[in-house]
Amino acid sequence: MSAIDDLPPLREVIATHDLSARKSLGQNFLLDLNLTARIARAAGDLTGHDVLEIGPGPGGLTRGLLAMGARRVLAVEKDPRCLPALQQIAEAYPGRLDVVIGDAMAIDPLNQLTGPVRICANLPYNVGTELLVRWLTPPEWPPYWTSLTLMFQREVAQRIVAPPGSKAYGRLALLAQWRCDARVVLELPPQAFTPPPKVSSAVVHLQALPEPRFPARAATLSRVVAAAFNQRRKMLRSALKPISPDIDALLLQAGISPTDRAETVSLEAFCALSRVVDAQS
Ligand code: SAM
Repeated sequence: MSAIDDLPPLREVIATHDLSARKSLGQNFLLDLNLTARIARAAGDLTGHDVLEIGPGPGGLTRGLLAMGARRVLAVEKDPRCLPALQQIAEAYPGRLDVVIGDAMAIDPLNQLTGPVRICANLPYNVGTELLVRWLTPPEWPPYWTSLTLMFQREVAQRIVAPPGSKAYGRLALLAQWRCDARVVLELPPQAFTPPPKVSSAVVHLQALPEPRFPARAATLSRVVAAAFNQRRKMLRSALKPISPDIDALLLQAGISPTDRAETVSLEAFCALSRVVDAQS
């Protein structure tokens, strides 16, 4: 019996189902159920919410989410070896856990979720950033989810919450802070995981804003910002040449000096530039 439910401890679950961690799947498991319950609490009030979890593995965070009162958890896991362990959790919480075995990059879970939805995951590092960008850049806002509570490598977490002018400021900070309030809620050393990864980790909580801070088309802002930071040491007039041959004029129209570098430009100014780019094309 564990700290938060009547199920066996995670070490026993892993031994019973032979879930030795696979590096290729980014498997660094959290085995401390007090810790997974803390992460679940950081997601906010889960009662009356569906929670989408990517990569439940042996189910440590899944159990935290259910114990903290999630109405229902939809868990998408690529590794079929995890299914028996997850089925055992589903039996302990009847009607509240559905498991989909498949690749989160290829599955659209929307039609299997009922709002309000929160997303909470200890993400596989190899797909974490890509999934975050997808969640942040749907054409319409607000999105189907109200919050994201996600584990990243600490360095990625710092890039998500970075202020303008800082070394970590870039595409992730801009896309995240354009449409969300983002903050780091928990930092974890490598030893918190089994096996321990090489780097520290952090949990970021992103609360969707009712509307973006400044108007812009998601696809355009994403393209402009990616180009600007792709060559972050260059002046914007060269870094943004691929966006338009008239980039000097467009930058000036948006109130940005063509000799500025991306890291000094505010979110508001990048949104203004995206609108000017759209108006011209
Ligand atoms: N949530 C568990 C925990 O906290 O202990 C496991 C976290 S582990 C860092 C990442 C999990 O994501 C693994 O179980 C792995 O098999 C799964 N995974 C990796 N790539 C995936 C993908 N493309 N789609 C869904 N799950 C994936």
